[in-house]
Amino acid sequence: MKPVTYKRAMKSEEAISSASASHSCYLAGGTTLVDLMKLDIVAPEHLIDINKLSLADIELKNDAIRVGALVKNSDLAHHALILEHFPVLSQALLSGASPQLRNMATVGGNIMQRTRCYYFRDTTLPCNKREPGTGCPAIGGHNRIHAILGGSDKCIAVNPSDMCVALAALDASLNTVGPLGKKTIPLVDFHVAPGEHPDVETVLDKGALIESITIPLHPRNKRSHYLKVRDRASYAFALVSVAVALELDSGGVIKSARIGLGGVATKPWRALEAEKFLVGKKAGRDIYKRAGEAAVIGAKTYEHNAFKVELTKRVVVRALEKAEAIV
Ligand code: SF4
Repeated sequence: MKPVTYKRAMKSEEAISSASASHSCYLAGGTTLVDLMKLDIVAPEHLIDINKLSLADIELKNDAIRVGALVKNSDLAHHALILEHFPVLSQALLSGASPQLRNMATVGGNIMQRTRCYYFRDTTLPCNKREPGTGCPAIGGHNRIHAILGGSDKCIAVNPSDMCVALAALDASLNTVGPLGKKTIPLVDFHVAPGEHPDVETVLDKGALIESITIPLHPRNKRSHYLKVRDRASYAFALVSVAVALELDSGGVIKSARIGLGGVATKPWRALEAEKFLVGKKAGRDIYKRAGEAAVIGAKTYEHNAFKVELTKRVVVRALEKAEAIV
């Protein structure tokens, strides 16, 4: 690890002003950043500790729940408002990492976490995301965990967040503040697909800070479910995960649907074709199977990850069945 300065900010303005120095990084829970610093994958010169900022509240206001960026993952997962209104979010959070990590990791840090691509985390190997222009060994190498949606010929790394898959299905937005002022950005537009520039992962302005997320209340969100398939029963990233929310009328016809996909895409992914297909159809397994087909339209597979196509279809069906069964 390289030497680094440390400063604790007491207000957002102070943090943003401190972050104007080049090679600065915000420090919250540290569960990703400190790991990456130890591996020499990131090497900030200045750390700005934001843990004292007043960003740790969860409140219901104007038909939406606002969650501060410093709320710990565990606290969010077990909060009464989240359990009542967004079961899918609680399930997604509790499926991620370990209890110890969830007790430290923050909402903002979860959104900003980096990929688990093994090549990205090994500085002896090339990687376009870590060092632009050096190449992507995953495309012709070990790509079992890599993306089938949203990739490019420069990078096929998967976004590792469970929480963000649920937030995508819940139509959440991020509230940021930075040198260019305050912004509200839909979660689905916050992360960017790699395209020609895999090193650019979000639309967050340089020096800006995520202050909170806003999740609108909607009847659909109480009938929601998160299903994650992974190599181990716990403490493993998703091979495929699906977050669904379903709104049914009294006759069992689907009024609206949301489907988020994780473990298969370069960013938290919405299966928009599948959602559109479901609206107006009578809920049931045959319809869900066709939604599963629609969810993988455009998938591109590599030597070791073709199994994700069939697995995604099946997990979509199962997650929709679980959501439908909620009374
Ligand atoms: Fe790097 Fe992306 Fe290729 Fe992984 S998939 S080696 S992160 S460029």
